[in-house]
Amino acid sequence: MVMKASAFLAYVTSVILGFLGVLYLLASVYAPQRLITGSLLLGSAILIIALTVWKTSIPKKIIVQWSPSGELEVEELKCPYCGAPITELKPGMDIIKCKYCGKTIKVEEKPIW
Ligand SMILES: [Zn+2]
Repeated sequence: MVMKASAFLAYVTSVILGFLGVLYLLASVYAPQRLITGSLLLGSAILIIALTVWKTSIPKKIIVQWSPSGELEVEELKCPYCGAPITELKPGMDIIKCKYCGKTIKVEEKPIW
């Protein structure tokens, strides 16, 4: 995942805020009122990180719709020996083994014209 510039900026800002917050908290040893400033700075830094992580972790939805214009023709493939349906056919396969009678079938693509 590519990090967006806005997310990067948010992380940098929160790191700076968090660093200042820690500095204020450490300095509160000398002046207790710095404890409030430090907590606020650290708190907002954590809030920014949490919001950014939450925003960037939501995956984007991609909806692919397929709407064929005409009516679809479905043809069932059957084993020519026993008539069992052939289900394991994949594109590119031309020789398959029937699950039911064990005979090998060669699949040939017929031209549609
Ligand atoms: Zn068969």
